[in-house]
Amino acid sequence: MTKTNIKNFTLEKLRDYVVKNGQHKYRADQIFNWLYNHLSFDFSEMENLPKSFREKLSREAEIQTLRLVNKIDSPITGTTKFLFETWDGNKIEAVVIPEGKRTTLCISTQIGCPLNCKFCATGLMGFTRNLTVGEIVDQYLLTAKEYGKKVITNIVFMGMGEPLLNYEATIDSIKNFTNELTKTLSRNRITVSTAGIPDKIRALADSGLRVKVALSLHSTFDEVRNKLMPINKKYPLEENIEALKYYAKKTGTRITFEYLMLDGINDRDENVKGLARLTSKLPSKINLIPFNSIAHMNPGGFASKLAPTPFPKIHEFANKLRNKNITVIIRNSQGDDIAAACGQLAIKEKKH
Ligand code: SAH
Repeated sequence: MTKTNIKNFTLEKLRDYVVKNGQHKYRADQIFNWLYNHLSFDFSEMENLPKSFREKLSREAEIQTLRLVNKIDSPITGTTKFLFETWDGNKIEAVVIPEGKRTTLCISTQIGCPLNCKFCATGLMGFTRNLTVGEIVDQYLLTAKEYGKKVITNIVFMGMGEPLLNYEATIDSIKNFTNELTKTLSRNRITVSTAGIPDKIRALADSGLRVKVALSLHSTFDEVRNKLMPINKKYPLEENIEALKYYAKKTGTRITFEYLMLDGINDRDENVKGLARLTSKLPSKINLIPFNSIAHMNPGGFASKLAPTPFPKIHEFANKLRNKNITVIIRNSQGDDIAAACGQLAIKEKKH
């Protein structure tokens, strides 16, 4: 019999589970406290549960935990990359990024990614499977255990994979981060980044979770976006913008557009105009992202031609946007030196 992994439950689902097992639902709250507040992953430590129930849990359930395989610190930026192994021998990565008063944890939602964006190392790995809720929340629980619960202040779903293609597990993990009992993080400290899956953006709007959403935009022109991100052929920009308008309206949040700066491809004056047109349609801001080379992955074809826009030109581009009253941030590139920067997460070892 495969055991039930307790970390896969939301609080609500765990309450149902304990009730089915003849216990009062507050037993679920106690278990959640152990997991999310005490960061304890062992039934035998959960001393406020009746001994007989603890024994039953040990027989029928488990608290599956990712295995920490490696931890690499960047001496330059303070970024740390965590490499974890799942029960079935797959590797995933999470990155801890200290930025002033905040410490952001960047988590993965899939092993590999099916989207094949041309600038992204994870895309070059192909897709193995979705992560479970337990595997997603564990990236937080294990790093929180390492640093102390208060240290991680923000979570971004910007690691490996497309969160909205693993929708159920993504929203259940958000529920676990924000639930009324453990209040691990507030909703406005969580960002879901997507390449753009319109029906799931709408579903997330209707979920009531009201987290922040970022769209990996990279071009306002479908012809260019089609080349960079093949998913755009299925879901063209207009459909995503309509879904994001709905999201912004329904949740009262501002959408972030992530915009990779690619030399000669999306950094000209016509792109400033395109962005000005787009951002006038909905409450939004732009994060300009310096492109982290994935040349070490030896990409061929179109991808091999992608080069970063030089820094002075990124600043010039940002200023042109600011002159049009658009909120623009140039994101620091952190972790490039340890291949932990955005788009560089890819596991080189083959599983055996
Ligand atoms: N699938 C989701 C989340 C993962 S990508 C999405 O597409 O948003 C997280 C962010 O990293 C995205 O904004 C993505 O465009 C960016 N990114 C991918 N490859 C990159 C690279 N080589 N350099 C810098 N940022 C990159």
